[in-house]
Order: sequence, then structure tokens, then C-alpha cells
Amino acid sequence: MTPKLEQFSFQDQKVLMRVDFNVPLNDQFEITDDSRIRAALPSINHILSEGGAVIIMSHLGRPKNGPEEAFSLKHIVARLSELTNKEIQFANDCKGEEAVEKSKALRAGEILVLENLRFYKEETKGDSDFARKLASLGDFYVNDAFGTAHRAHASTAIIAEHFEGKKSFGFLMAKEIDNAEMVMQNPKRPFTAIVGGAKVSDKILIVENLLNIADHILIGGGMAYTFFKAQGGNIGNSLCEDDRLDTCRAILKKAEEKGVKIHLPADSIIADKFDAQANTQHAPSNEIADEWMGLDIGTSATEQFSRVLLDSHTILWNGPMGVFEMEAFEKGTKGVAEAVARATENGAFSLIGGGDSAAAVYRFGFENQVSYVSTGGGALLEYFEGKQLPGIAAING
Ligand code: AMP
Repeated sequence: MTPKLEQFSFQDQKVLMRVDFNVPLNDQFEITDDSRIRAALPSINHILSEGGAVIIMSHLGRPKNGPEEAFSLKHIVARLSELTNKEIQFANDCKGEEAVEKSKALRAGEILVLENLRFYKEETKGDSDFARKLASLGDFYVNDAFGTAHRAHASTAIIAEHFEGKKSFGFLMAKEIDNAEMVMQNPKRPFTAIVGGAKVSDKILIVENLLNIADHILIGGGMAYTFFKAQGGNIGNSLCEDDRLDTCRAILKKAEEKGVKIHLPADSIIADKFDAQANTQHAPSNEIADEWMGLDIGTSATEQFSRVLLDSHTILWNGPMGVFEMEAFEKGTKGVAEAVARATENGAFSLIGGGDSAAAVYRFGFENQVSYVSTGGGALLEYFEGKQLPGIAAING
């Protein structure tokens, strides 16, 4: 059974909680989007209200060589204090005397934030001695950082071995896992996966794993053109990975053998250059003239994909249908988002993978009309590739 936060008593427990406070900061080190901090509040507040104290561990940015002002977690202290309505204590180091003393002195209902874990290389290396030192600061371990669940870092995985029977997912991470499991382990059928984005090579493992689970796979975005070329189509200057043509052919063959229907976009919006102001035309996706490139799925393809989606009971979406960042090439992604929203209204369960698909859903204002928008980019991708995530295994194991 997966341990859940609500099963435990936290009375007088010091809870070491790994969160993802990797928030964007501006030049003045002000937080420009605090959603990751807000996302951890339910777990923090629960532990405090159950009589525990919380010791927060996180990374921020990508410091290269030890401590750097720009990546200090002290920049998040004021916002966390506002959001929790509490005074926050801060340790200038995540290990060593100050961290030990401040953890010892922490009382029930109090919060201590440790300095950026990635000021030490040992964190990303998954160093066991570093993990042991972190572990010595608390009595109980909670992981609520789904975004780093695919990493076997000291604070996301290795540390858990010091907390046998005293470890749990936080609420955010539990919700992410429940939703991902709902799609991959027991989907209501028909199950349609939408896979898009720039490159076939980034999405091969996902598509291969989905061939064992999905009923339909809709392929859009730049990656579709390698499939068209693999089938002998003309794709002009569209994105293409020539070293993946055989892979595309193998995927199409395997799909046929397994009875999974792969849908490629019948038509495209094509452009004479990769530019928001480019000249554009409509063309069949396998008949794109030289010097032109497909930058979005066309209107027939959007209708074609929408029909499949409206017949689906489970939908997973990862990757945009075109260069949605430019208005001229956003229609396909927007149309698909609309179809996912309508299918959801009709009772389908829809999960939007992190990264660019999540950004598109927010940009077009559909975030409240889909079932769940995941916060995990790489972690969710690896989950859908069928991999075991170290951050999940460490708690479950
Ligand atoms: P990914 O990170 O692999 O999901 O790719 C997302 C990126 O793919 C976005 O920045 C899109 O602009 C880009 N993209 C989507 N469709 C195309 C296309 N047809 N040609 C070039 N880039 C594309």
C-alpha cells in the first residue's frame, strides 16, 4: 500500500519535507510565479496542524560550483511566510552545525527552510553520506516534489532508506501519482494518447510504451513529419530526423500488429520560413513543396483528431500540435485543447502532461476544463515511458 500523509500522526515529529521550490526569480530576486510554493501548502499545513514541525528541503536553479546568491532559497522565505502566515526560520546551509542546531531547536508548529541542496554536488550525485546527514535533521520524511521524482538524488530517493515506516508522499505527489496511474494502469476505454512536440527521438519511448496501453495515438507537431517521410511523403523543409525513419516504420508496423490506431494529421499549415510573419498555406501533410515547412496541423486534421477525442473516455496529452507560441501556428493546438475540454465535459478523464502541453492549456484558458494538468515535465514523461521513478520507489519500497 502506498503510504499517504493522512495515515500518520505528526505530534512532536520533525518532518523533513522535500519540495520543489524551484520558482522563477527576476533580477531583483523577486518571485514571478509562486505556484510551486502554493502547491506544497496543503502538505505543510497538514503537518503543522497535526502537531508537527516542518523542515523544508529544495533545490533552486542550477548552481554550478557551490553557493551562489542568485540561487539562495532565502529569496523564497518572505513569500512562504505570507502564504503560511508564520514566521519562517532559515539555515544558511542544508547541513553542518547551523542546520543541526536550528533543527534541534525547532518546535511543533514551526517551519525551518534549509539552504539550496544543490549547493552541494553530493545532492545530484545521490551521495549516501550527504543523504545520511540530511536525514539526521528529522524524524519523518515526506516527498512532495513530483518534478524531481525521476532523479535518484540524495534528497529525493537515497534519504528515504533512513526512514523505514516513517516516510510518505505529500498530497501533491500523491495526486500526481494517482492521476498517472489512473491513465496508465486502468484506463476507461477508448484510451487516446495525443503525442506532439518537436522531435520523434524525445518521444519514441513514450510512443512505444503507449502501443501496449492506448487504443488510439494521435501524432502531431514537428515529429509527425518524420513519420510522413518514412512512408514516402514529401515534407519539404519540415522538421525531420532522418536517422529515425526506420523507427517510425517499426512503430507503424507494431501498431498495426497490436491493433492500436495511429492517426497522423491529414493536412498542415505550411510556411515559407520559421517565422511568425511567414507566408502561409494549407497542404496535405505528405505533399509539402520544397522550401516550405509544416508548422501546425491543418483544419481537416484538427477535425479528424477532435472526432477521435470526442469518442474517448481517457485522454493523455503530451506535446503541442504545432509552433503554438506563434499566433499563426496556434490553431491546431488550440483546436485540440478545445476537443479535450469538450470530451472532458462529456465525462472523459483527461490528463495533460507537463511542459509545453501544460503551457498551451494555460495559454488558451482551458486549465479548468480538463481533469488534471500535471506539474511534472521530465518525471511524467519517464512515468509514461514505463520507467520506475526513483522518488516513487524510495517511498513505496
Ligand atoms: P517538445 O518539448 O518536444 O514537446 O516540443 C515543443 C516544441 O515543439 C514547441 O516549442 C513547439 O514550438 C515545437 N514544435 C511543434 N510543432 C512544430 C513544428 N511543426 N515544427 C517545428 N517545431 C514545432
